[in-house]
Amino acid sequence: MAISFDLTGKVALVTGANTGIGQAIAVALAGAGADVALAGRSEPAETLDLIAGTGRKALNIRADLSSIEPVGRIVAEVVSGLGRIDILVNNAGIIRRNDLAEFTEEDWDAVIDTNLKSLFFLSQAAARPMAAQGSGKIINIASLLSFQGGIRVPSYAAAKSGVAGVTKAMANELAARGVQVNAIAPGYIATNNTAALQADETRNRQIVERIPTGRWGSPDDIAGAAVFLASAAADYVTGHVLAVDGGWLAR
Ligand code: NAP
Repeated sequence: MAISFDLTGKVALVTGANTGIGQAIAVALAGAGADVALAGRSEPAETLDLIAGTGRKALNIRADLSSIEPVGRIVAEVVSGLGRIDILVNNAGIIRRNDLAEFTEEDWDAVIDTNLKSLFFLSQAAARPMAAQGSGKIINIASLLSFQGGIRVPSYAAAKSGVAGVTKAMANELAARGVQVNAIAPGYIATNNTAALQADETRNRQIVERIPTGRWGSPDDIAGAAVFLASAAADYVTGHVLAVDGGWLAR
């Protein structure tokens, strides 16, 4: 049997793809043959250019995922603009750092709403056409804090642990409809999200010393796992949280 990672004819939706991990995933999915819709709150000019360079179609959808208000519109725009939806990558996310004693309700709600609530309800909206067509792939961007508690990021740890749980919950229900739901747990990846850690000399050294691979990851390190999980090669993989972490969790 020929194993296929080819996404020709597929349509993907990636949230938060103007930068970082989302950008790398969107461009990699296009490189594997998919047309790609980008949903986010900032103009993804660079990502649109990079997708154009692959020869695939790109669709730009402006949406703020700090609430679930746009989720139905986003999926409707993908289907009307690109004809269908086969792959959803829930990547958009934020982080708020503070000591436990100082942690505010705003920092709790903002992270849970964007990283967990919008992820679930956008998945719900995308799962409808996927279930109706009998195929689909939902890929959630989880975190090492889906497994660990982290330092000074309690709402992020709660949200990302929730992402692992809801990935499995959705996978169980959608498996019989031909839709696989998985998550990728990136390790320490050099992006805007981790700029504060990279800039902190002590934390930066502690982090790199603990990673068996001995370096920060790059967004491109995550993209291959996304292409795999989006492809027919992963049709029997569902409900899994795949760490791509340079060995961090093995240690
Ligand atoms: P990033 O460069 O900060 O990217 C985050 C993306 O999410 C941006 O496109 C951002 O848009 C978007 N976003 C944030 N809030 C949004 C909102 N309300 N509506 C729409 N889009 C929104 O960071 P990243 O590291 O690539 O993060 C991507 C994902 O990976 C996140 O879920 C993050 O938690 C996860 N992750 C990252 C690491 C890491 O080490 N970097 C590790 C584990 C997991 P704007 O540019 O407009 O803010």
